[in-house]
Amino acid sequence: MTGDAQPPSVVIVGAGQGGYETAASLREHGYRGRVTLISAEDALPYERPPLSKACLKGDGAAPGDEQLWLRPPTYYARQSIDLVGGTVTAVDPAARTVRLRDGTAYDYGHLVLATGARPRPLDVPGAALRGVHTLRTARDAAALRASLAAAQYAVVVGAGFLGLECAAAARESGRAVTVVEALDRPLARAVSARTAEHFTRLHRGEGTRLLFGQQVVALRGDWHGKVTAVELADGRRLPADLVVIGVGVTPRTELAAAAGLPVGDGVTVDARLLTGDPHISAIGDCAAFPQVRSGKRLRLESVQNAVGHARLVAKRLTGASRAHYQELPWFWSDQFATTVQIAGHDDGHDTEMVLGDDPDAFSVLLFRGEGLRAVESVNRPGDHMAARRLLDGGGRLKPGEAAAPGFTLKGHLARLRDGPAPARRGVS
Ligand SMILES: Cc1cc2nc3c(=O)[nH]c(=O)nc-3n(C[C@H](O)[C@H](O)[C@H](O)COP(=O)(O)OP(=O)(O)OC[C@H]3O[C@@H](n4cnc5c(N)ncnc54)[C@H](O)[C@@H]3O)c2cc1C
Repeated sequence: MTGDAQPPSVVIVGAGQGGYETAASLREHGYRGRVTLISAEDALPYERPPLSKACLKGDGAAPGDEQLWLRPPTYYARQSIDLVGGTVTAVDPAARTVRLRDGTAYDYGHLVLATGARPRPLDVPGAALRGVHTLRTARDAAALRASLAAAQYAVVVGAGFLGLECAAAARESGRAVTVVEALDRPLARAVSARTAEHFTRLHRGEGTRLLFGQQVVALRGDWHGKVTAVELADGRRLPADLVVIGVGVTPRTELAAAAGLPVGDGVTVDARLLTGDPHISAIGDCAAFPQVRSGKRLRLESVQNAVGHARLVAKRLTGASRAHYQELPWFWSDQFATTVQIAGHDDGHDTEMVLGDDPDAFSVLLFRGEGLRAVESVNRPGDHMAARRLLDGGGRLKPGEAAAPGFTLKGHLARLRDGPAPARRGVS
């Protein structure tokens, strides 16, 4: 069923951001068949972003609170979405069924794999000690929040977005915080050097110790199996009664692989998010899709990407559209009082330009050749919105234009919209 006729039933594996959105969008687009949303988590679908931010500080919503639910329980009943608890352990593409661990089977006309990703473990001795946490689910967040409440010394391994957000929450809760990163700067794979430098300054200014170019070789514990220290390659031991491992995630591809579908860094899908089987789609964090703009295969970990994928699949299955996925990627992160918003995808830039002279509020424009590829906005939400519109329209901005005195993204957009200013008439 590829969109020519509506499938009689859709089964969605994974009730995270992408899975929930697929079910909701199917109904929004008038799909009348059966929708089964299968969740390995013992919770209603909820938002993950607050788990590493407000939830960790004692004053925000607790993980599992209804403020984090994407919809209340009545919504699923009203929309005839069967929310099923359980873990899918096998897909049979020939019979078009999925089987849960308890043996229950569901037939599908179309299957959507929205299985997300799992935290990458830290492969060092002591990684299983008590007080060592990874963070993906509400359950993880509840355990981490409880540990944090009792901790004095927190060590975060990995200075990616998740690690830095946890470090900020721990610091705001008054803990002594050290971040250990193997590379020589934070967010190395995610942002430009200029934005990374801002986050280094921000965290250091808040009293967090940042150690770059440092490898963790072991976690040490006491007789009770509780972590007490983080050992670095240079022999240093950092005291720690709480350790957060934030060294990235691995896409959950095992179901797809076992079903014989192509898998690489994510389940391989085409530009309409179909796997090698026309009855199976894959979306969100678990899916590696070809980016129409660059032609490169991407796997993105963001709410926008999961939601965008879900909506495209729902439109395809209801026959509303057969479009290729070409949404502009965007992302945000909050740390202390700073919000960074990123529009576009920087797949290698050769020119960086900075807008704004406030060290705490600026935007970095990343160009390749004569084209704008991505914009990182730190505390400049107006720039972010303008950047999204500009990049969505093809990123028509040259480095030379951006260098003009008084240049703003909003002004540039207006000029593109209104066309070139009329030539001035000479005054006689
Ligand atoms: C702590 C945290 C903070 C984040 N902050 C931000 C942010 O600030 N901004 C942003 O854009 N993004 C953020 N993200 C990323 C964003 O939440 C993810 O990109 C998004 O949730 C991906 O959606 P998904 O549906 O692909 O996967 P998920 O939301 O992870 O959902 C996958 C679901 O599938 C289930 N599942 C897996 N296998 C099976 C199976 N075999 N059977 C049944 N169920 C299964 C999993 O248990 C899970 O519930 C954050 C993520 C985390 C963890």
